[in-house]
Amino acid sequence: MPHYRAPVEDTLFLLSDVLGVHGRANLAGFADATPDVMEAVLREGGKLADAVLAPVNQAGDREGCTRHADGRVTTPAGFKTAYDAYVGGGWLGLSMPEAFGGQGLPQVLNTAIQEFASGANLALSMYPGLTQGAAAALLVHGSQAQKDLYLPPMVEGRWTGTMNLTEPHCGTDLGLLRTRAAPNGDGSYAITGTKIFISAGEHDLSENIVHLVLARIEGAPAGTKGISLFLVPKVLVNEDGSLGARNGVSCGSIEHKMGIHGNSTCVMNYDAATGWLVGEANRGLNAMFVMMNEARLAVGVQGLGQSEAAYQNAVAYAKDRLQGRSLTGAKAPDKPADPIIVHPDVRRTLMQIRAFNEAARALVLWTALQSDILHRTEDAQERRTADDLMGLMTPVVKGVLTDRGFANAVEAQQLYGGHGYVEEWGMSQFVRDARIAMIYEGANGIQAMDLIGRKLPKDGGRAMMTFLGEVQTFLKDNGEDEAMAPFVRPLKTAADDLQQATMWLMQNAMGKPEHAGAGASDYMHLLGLVALGTMWGRIAKAALARKAEGGDTSRWDAKLVTGRFFMERTLPETALRLARIRSGADATMALDAEAF
Ligand SMILES: Cc1cc2nc3c(=O)[nH]c(=O)nc-3n(C[C@H](O)[C@H](O)[C@H](O)COP(=O)(O)OP(=O)(O)OC[C@H]3O[C@@H](n4cnc5c(N)ncnc54)[C@H](O)[C@@H]3O)c2cc1C
Repeated sequence: MPHYRAPVEDTLFLLSDVLGVHGRANLAGFADATPDVMEAVLREGGKLADAVLAPVNQAGDREGCTRHADGRVTTPAGFKTAYDAYVGGGWLGLSMPEAFGGQGLPQVLNTAIQEFASGANLALSMYPGLTQGAAAALLVHGSQAQKDLYLPPMVEGRWTGTMNLTEPHCGTDLGLLRTRAAPNGDGSYAITGTKIFISAGEHDLSENIVHLVLARIEGAPAGTKGISLFLVPKVLVNEDGSLGARNGVSCGSIEHKMGIHGNSTCVMNYDAATGWLVGEANRGLNAMFVMMNEARLAVGVQGLGQSEAAYQNAVAYAKDRLQGRSLTGAKAPDKPADPIIVHPDVRRTLMQIRAFNEAARALVLWTALQSDILHRTEDAQERRTADDLMGLMTPVVKGVLTDRGFANAVEAQQLYGGHGYVEEWGMSQFVRDARIAMIYEGANGIQAMDLIGRKLPKDGGRAMMTFLGEVQTFLKDNGEDEAMAPFVRPLKTAADDLQQATMWLMQNAMGKPEHAGAGASDYMHLLGLVALGTMWGRIAKAALARKAEGGDTSRWDAKLVTGRFFMERTLPETALRLARIRSGADATMALDAEAF
């Protein structure tokens, strides 16, 4: 059976030494997050992931969810017990406001726990994950009455949440959606329509399910400007919070899919179901964006989680599996062959994944810290910068971490040879589970378009200038430090590539938007590489400082070697990305559709 061990030590190092979270006492909630509290939270969260969530991961994949004739959906054996342990420990409300029963701790801490949970059991982690997203949307756009009634049981995990956007004929292009909302005359609406692919749409883990549904109020304008957001509970809720009658929403079927079998993916039928408007009429997409942005970061974390889980298992296998002899002579002469970890090509694979994971973890925590700054600082300038950086990095975290997360799961599977292809070892599940993260929450091609079409030009390119400014400051501050040279030089080259790509697009894509569309994915990866390279620069600096303290330096030496590998073997990919972007759209678009 595959194993999982939450990367607690690495996360503690990143939070304290690389991100300096403890020095952020000016941010609301951070004063409570003392080093001791953070460590205790991460250690307990790690134990939960290792001992409760991971052990039901493979069985959940094999059994999957079942829809019964009466429309009920049951989750795999053991999921309910694991879910109860998760919400019973208060993990769902870790960074939710105390006013609604949460603990008000930093989002950066919650993000670390999200990585542990999704690495241990992606399918299970989605039930509380979606609930957090729905609660976040209600926090920002819900009325006080909606918050008071719905948030406490959601934060407690007694009720879960969903997001209902997709319909059979529309996924990316939500302007086409048809689900209707007719006013009932008492402030509520009758919601009618069909939603597909709704994660956690029906299940047996909670007493109630709070669906956030995009629909069009009768007479609303066509397109995205006529979409509103509604709260539609599975079971109607009385004013005192007790449960009333069943609402007109039901699960028509569940999908049989490639992965995340333990998470129910439902067709949801809304048959004049009673719903309440969340936020303003016709501004539903705006309200849903709170949930979508939250979810996009969480999905990026899922990519990292699967990459880490696959890596840990591949390391164990590579140390155990005996095949061939080392190129430099037998390393285990007493055995019939050496363990495959002696082979440079196996090492290359492991180093590639490891070097990505450690920087990706830093990047998601850094982005989560921007979210904390955005929501918790009193300083307007600091808030604006955090908003810019988070907006810019959200599609990158989603797109790059899930593309690479899947690729890494495949690479780790490869180290098992044929044993990776059979289900017994669990590597196939990591690959299958990781695949969805590239698709949902906006397919990765759409993330790239969001980056290049919306985030990049916004406010005259201010966010990108801020990001590049931070990279340049880092390069300048460390340019004279010889020990940092292996990090500073490659990062400078990569940042130059990013600058040139940005300039090329500014000069060429205005007149011909297809240049932007054809280069979008490369640009997203180019920015991702520079962001990950910057994280390695910061990690290296912190590791050098720890190494200088003396004692056993092996951990810091390993960090520095891993970082050097990234700088030498992964970061130069920026040149390839730049070359592709500069080639423009001509060859990409030259053939007529009929020629395909
Ligand atoms: C397991 C699973 C769980 C899901 N969970 C949820 C959920 O909880 N709630 C929910 O609402 N939805 C959910 N979805 C739906 C998911 O978000 C959509 O499938 C996804 O957004 C893509 O939409 P689509 O499938 O209609 O593909 P399409 O929109 O048809 O896109 C097909 C392809 O065309 C590309 N494309 C489309 N338009 C453009 C464009 N303008 N420019 C460039 N490329 C373009 C896309 O990138 C994609 O590769 C889930 C899906 C699955 C499979």
